[in-house]
Amino acid sequence: MLHGKENIMVILSSPSGVGKTTLTKKIQQKYKNFKISVSHTTRTPRSNEVDGVDYHFVSKKKFKELIDEKKFYEHAKIFENYYGTLKKYVDETIKENDILFDIDWQGTKQLSKYTNLNLIKIYLITNKAELKSRLIKRNQNTDEEIKKRFNSFDEDILHWNDYDYIIINKNLENCFRQIEKIIEINKIAPNISFQKTQ
Ligand code: 5GP
Repeated sequence: MLHGKENIMVILSSPSGVGKTTLTKKIQQKYKNFKISVSHTTRTPRSNEVDGVDYHFVSKKKFKELIDEKKFYEHAKIFENYYGTLKKYVDETIKENDILFDIDWQGTKQLSKYTNLNLIKIYLITNKAELKSRLIKRNQNTDEEIKKRFNSFDEDILHWNDYDYIIINKNLENCFRQIEKIIEINKIAPNISFQKTQ
């Protein structure tokens, strides 16, 4: 159990297929105070995904209503689908827990505008060849989707400098150790600012 003055919000962004889901689960297992923010999406569920656990799967109509009612902290269109983080969930959860967000660079930019949020922004990167083989191995997307996700890599990495930390994911264990250090430094000694890139 870590003792920090304030609860933290950790954003983990990466090009699709870098191993983020595994890392997110490892973080939650180790740090029991972390809750994963469950996003809303208009994407169809994959065979292994559970509504309310992996995402809240909603129609485009419902998503649009939530936008119009200003219910989101952030939302973005990614690969023809919409994804977003509800304000209510975050505001309630952060009172008692740290929160982990698996969102893209567009959402990160929008959340950063709320200067009252205690955000720690981490960008995970891998090399392109490794990414391609991961996307194919994962076998959860059609060829067309794999192509789209792979092609978005160049656009995605243009935004790395909006983040506090960049981690090169050569190996998941090593990557996890770096995330542990980031979490611990920010929970135990949040004033040691030289750890950040900005
Ligand atoms: P996937 O369809 O593979 O689950 O996710 C595609 C992308 O959407 C990933 O890069 C993921 O980080 C991002 N994403 C998931 N939820 C959200 C969200 O609520 N907001 C934003 N901006 N991106 C999200």
